[in-house]
Amino acid sequence: MSAPNRQYDPVAVEPLHPDEVARMRDEALAAIAAARDLDELKQVKVAHTGDRSPLALANREIGALPPQARKEAGQRVGGARKEVARALEARQQELEAERDERVLVEEAVDVTLPWDRAPKGARHPLTTIQERIGDVFVAMGWEIAEGPEAEAEWLNFDALNIGPDHPARTMQDTFFVESEESGLVLRTHTSPVQARTMLSRRPPIYVICPGRTFRTDELDATHTPVFSQVEGLAVDEGLTMAHLKGTLDHFASSMFGDGISTRLRPSYFPFTEPSAEMDLQCFVCRGASVGDPERPCRTCGSEGWIEWGGCGMVNPRVLVACGVDPERYTGFAFGMGLERTLMFRHGIEDMHDMVEGDVRFTTAFGMEI
Ligand SMILES: [Zn+2]
Repeated sequence: MSAPNRQYDPVAVEPLHPDEVARMRDEALAAIAAARDLDELKQVKVAHTGDRSPLALANREIGALPPQARKEAGQRVGGARKEVARALEARQQELEAERDERVLVEEAVDVTLPWDRAPKGARHPLTTIQERIGDVFVAMGWEIAEGPEAEAEWLNFDALNIGPDHPARTMQDTFFVESEESGLVLRTHTSPVQARTMLSRRPPIYVICPGRTFRTDELDATHTPVFSQVEGLAVDEGLTMAHLKGTLDHFASSMFGDGISTRLRPSYFPFTEPSAEMDLQCFVCRGASVGDPERPCRTCGSEGWIEWGGCGMVNPRVLVACGVDPERYTGFAFGMGLERTLMFRHGIEDMHDMVEGDVRFTTAFGMEI
């Protein structure tokens, strides 16, 4: 067993040399002073006081010294570590105070700022008017019927007495779904829903069909390739045009005010016979502007009437195509464009407003439910 190394000079142990300890301490103090925020200070703390820091490693060397040399080296290293710990603590407090001050400023609530940064939207008036129309008819015991937007060509045309040569079937009017043999079109009107209804149930039938329809129009102030229609269909025993007229008048007064009526003008549609154009009495001037240049009406152009849609008695050929016995049953149908209805109901002048989805347009209609 060898004798203790009494000649061992702690000065010669490199990490414990006073200059070296002082250098480590100064380095740590400089790093603490340079830390700009609490995150940086945390890194400095790990680097200069952690288990792998130079001062901690130096501390470990003390154990290797002869007993008489340990005290002095211990004081030297311990003093340096204390100094570093104090500086760290002081800088920590400083930086915390700075952070608290900054948070107070940065997170202050300015109660004068507008609170409504993410305003809620509103339901589109096309949706609300559809529901309002649905309510009018449901209240009379009618049902709401729906059908697909990509529709069988046969239901969109043939079943409705629109023959293969009818101009409505040309590519100029209709979106055909590829391939050509698919037999599918984007429905050009909501009438195929009527055909579907007649094919799927027995009369009496009273349905209203609101929905999107498609035609190859360019979007401009009065046209849009995607538009909305609402159609009504009644099939029962003994229905006449008087029932049609009464239904339309009730519909008109429910939507536009008491006493507003409709007017029928002879017309032609393949799926109704007889057919009529339907006019709505002007709900603004109620006809008072006609022949009175002193009081012109913008809504009806001083005509007293507004074109609203088409209607008629269901063509017996359509009844036959849909499996309904025309000897026993008669029916009436009517349809109108919802965009157009909205335009004159609310004085909207440009179709773009209705299709562009600008929330500033819809919010003006409020949250009507
Ligand atoms: Zn008018």
